[in-house]
Amino acid sequence: MLFRSTTRTYIYEDALKNHNIPFFNSSNKRYFYRQEILDIINALKVISNPYDNIATIGFLRSPMVGISDNSLYYILKNTNENKSVFHSMYKLEDLAIKKEDTSKIEEALQLLNYFHEIKETSTISELTADLIERTYFIEIALLKINGRQSLANIYKFIEMVELYEQNNKNSLEDFIDYIEEIKVRDEPEAPMESETSNVVKLLTIHKSKGLEFAVVIIPEMARDTGGRFPNLLFNKDIGLGLKTISCSGFHDEIKDILRVKENEEKERVLYVAMTRAEKMLILGNQGKNRGFKKLTDEHLNKNKYKIISHINLEQESTNKIKIIEDHLLRDSENHNIKKLPLLFHENLNKKFDSYSISQYLVFKQCKRKYYIDFYQGRTEAFGDKDKWEELEINPGVITALDKGNIVHEFAQLYNPGKNVSDLLNSIILSFGLSNEEENLRILRPYIDNYLKLYRDDYDTVFLERPFHIKIGDNYLNGVIDRINIKDNIIEIQDFKTNKVIDKDKLIKQYTPQLQVYAYAVEKIMNIKVKTASIVFLETGQAINVPLEKEHLLANIDSIGKFIHFVENHNDIIDYSKSTNCNYCNYKTICF
Ligand code: SF4
Repeated sequence: MLFRSTTRTYIYEDALKNHNIPFFNSSNKRYFYRQEILDIINALKVISNPYDNIATIGFLRSPMVGISDNSLYYILKNTNENKSVFHSMYKLEDLAIKKEDTSKIEEALQLLNYFHEIKETSTISELTADLIERTYFIEIALLKINGRQSLANIYKFIEMVELYEQNNKNSLEDFIDYIEEIKVRDEPEAPMESETSNVVKLLTIHKSKGLEFAVVIIPEMARDTGGRFPNLLFNKDIGLGLKTISCSGFHDEIKDILRVKENEEKERVLYVAMTRAEKMLILGNQGKNRGFKKLTDEHLNKNKYKIISHINLEQESTNKIKIIEDHLLRDSENHNIKKLPLLFHENLNKKFDSYSISQYLVFKQCKRKYYIDFYQGRTEAFGDKDKWEELEINPGVITALDKGNIVHEFAQLYNPGKNVSDLLNSIILSFGLSNEEENLRILRPYIDNYLKLYRDDYDTVFLERPFHIKIGDNYLNGVIDRINIKDNIIEIQDFKTNKVIDKDKLIKQYTPQLQVYAYAVEKIMNIKVKTASIVFLETGQAINVPLEKEHLLANIDSIGKFIHFVENHNDIIDYSKSTNCNYCNYKTICF
């Protein structure tokens, strides 16, 4: 199998593994640059030297702590040559840092202080194992894409530490120097399968030069690897091209030159890949007409190849929830790493100041997910896997999360006096994205549907209106996208940018949200709400939810029970699993 780059070979590795087909991936030689290894090394460096600013930043950004870039910015702003990042972590009161990040930093400080205390009396392997255990690093790694490989790499690191200790009786500092020295070598990742001669080979096209194979597969021909160009470009003949909201100067000119070069290179690379096949060449041509696919459409004679549009795959009988097999875990006696899931052994006894409607919706979807997301607050540490997967599939193209945020921002800023394209372009740019054709193509249907439903003949309109209501002894908060008032009649709208694949399921999921909104508005404004609608901007449909008194009260009763449950249960065992969890990030650890 030949690839332009190695970023997505893991998908094929996983498929080959699932079907027990042996393979060899020649390109996984950057062991020391794997994120999980960099994270461990950074953490060890901070334990060794808390004044190492770069390592501290890496440690804070890693899933071991998981603070946002925004908070990191404020910490760095407060850092100077006399004051390290470590020092700044102690003085957070004056910094505009989010509350959840403040507590993460406090926990990180406690952790570092603990390791600074035990550093001199512990071996390097004890420190490493303790660090991995206390930061739930293995569980987090398993939740990432290609988690099994990360796990194998982490164990390989532990073995390297042990080997080092057998031959050297040196300090942590010596070990760090040693790692820095060997880091530059081509160290392969931990092997997941043994290499034999008769296996599927996964290679980059670049590495396949000069080789030939009976069968060659080039997958993902329609994947456009071009991505977007930065806002500042340079060409030695033209000079600098800067793109701003209002003008693009030489930027477009330089971009056109770069595009031509890119296409020529694409043709060369595709030629190399296709000519590696001796007997059969299989092109994965599904998807839009772009990338390599566009080139084959232009240059190949359609009568000379066979198009297979359907492959009848047998229904997979595999369990949707992965169970982490015991052999992936080390013997806890030898390696001081407890069996999974460590996450679930914590008894936090957490109390919430208030509850959000999002919490309630997740609780209704799956109590276990609620526990991990909100009770343990792990979401940020694990990162938004879907977002990263999306970014890898389509670099430069907006993610579902960005799409929702951009459309909501548009709804907030739009009025009939504004030029739709200008407003949309400036919002896209403010999200750090380019307003490339593809992004506009994705967003435009949502914006057009919003405009179709838009009316400006109301007496009053409230946008993104936050509210708090008291339920029992607790508070529930939420933000209502839009409240329209005319002649003392109220309409509520909540805009959804989901893909509407199963409309009934989405309506069922979001109805309680709109019912709470109606209840809150009636309580706060003392006016009856006439309609509350879920507006699917993908299709332009507005669905009114039932607002009869008994429905609203039943919903509030259900929220009251949810709050009561959470207030009185702090053990994972009480938070049962859902029976429908196809898209959950926690699949790998939830059993
Ligand atoms: S994997 Fe399923 S059961 Fe586990 S937390 Fe996710 S949705 Fe719930």
